[in-house]
Amino acid sequence: MRVLVAGGAGYIGSVVTAALLADGHEVTVLDDLSTGHADAVPSGATLAEVSLHDSAPVLADVRPEAVLHFAARSLVGVSQQQPEDYWSTNVGGSLALLEAMRAADCRRIVFSSTAATYGEPDQVPIREDAPTRPTNTYGASKLAVDHMLTSYAVAHGFAAVSLRYFNVAGAAFGLGERHATETHLIPLALQVAAGQRESLTVFGRDYPTPDGTCIRDYVHVEDLSDAHLLALPAPSAGEHRIYNLGNGTGFSVQQVVDAAREVTGHPIPTTDGPRRAGDPAQLVASSDRIRADLGWAPRHTDLVGIVRDAWGVARTR
Ligand code: UDP
Repeated sequence: MRVLVAGGAGYIGSVVTAALLADGHEVTVLDDLSTGHADAVPSGATLAEVSLHDSAPVLADVRPEAVLHFAARSLVGVSQQQPEDYWSTNVGGSLALLEAMRAADCRRIVFSSTAATYGEPDQVPIREDAPTRPTNTYGASKLAVDHMLTSYAVAHGFAAVSLRYFNVAGAAFGLGERHATETHLIPLALQVAAGQRESLTVFGRDYPTPDGTCIRDYVHVEDLSDAHLLALPAPSAGEHRIYNLGNGTGFSVQQVVDAAREVTGHPIPTTDGPRRAGDPAQLVASSDRIRADLGWAPRHTDLVGIVRDAWGVARTR
């Protein structure tokens, strides 16, 4: 298939680009490199350095049969301080991309949505029919695009899938997380092990969980990539499917720190800090729907293995 990957210079987009190329697809990456890296775009893909807002000429030229859309602002904290950037890039940019697709007669899309669309859950594991009550602008902006896709499917015959990621981690094809502003737990812990920062702050030890630290569902980027390749051909015209992607097991912040200590052999000193605003105690996915519909099954469910893969790439920097 001839595909366009919006945001293919970022962490997840670059891994999926590599997987698409390995599968024999022809890939054009559209990325403005505002947070991505040109050298993360796998060789074999063509890079168009263009923003979502200006994507129409690229779509008209490439004429893709499908789009995978990873391009977004994704920092929860910043989304509360600079909401305009989140509404403009995530919502305005996505609207421009969908309109560019329509103009180029391309109606198949896989979209990177997020567990942040659910907000504070009433129940875990979280299923796709759980209420969507995002607690920050980032989650709200992603939810807006999910709604946009539903209406484009109904009105314009789009075949769309939203994949709601939980905590993506690990590395594949030599590509890992590389954010200028790192906020995620696993890469931060590994930065301490690599001597790039002094210690890690644990945000809250007074949560109602067995060890008092927050529980999250860490899904390996390679399993996530598999899900994209399965999702791409799945929906028919007029259909918008939503799937959660997590490995189905929760791990606490303390368990992540312990795994990072085991993998790196570094003591990774921690300090105890207050809770981070808006952090639910426990976020774990039910991925039963994508398992049943598409036969997806995560292959890397072991936390130490996920951290080891992340470390394998992080230590080379
Ligand atoms: N966390 C932490 N210290 C940090 C970064 C994160 O204790 O320096 C915790 C955070 O409170 C959350 C978990 O680690 O409970 C995962 O956070 P992350 O930012 O990696 O992902 P999120 O769950 O926010 O998507």
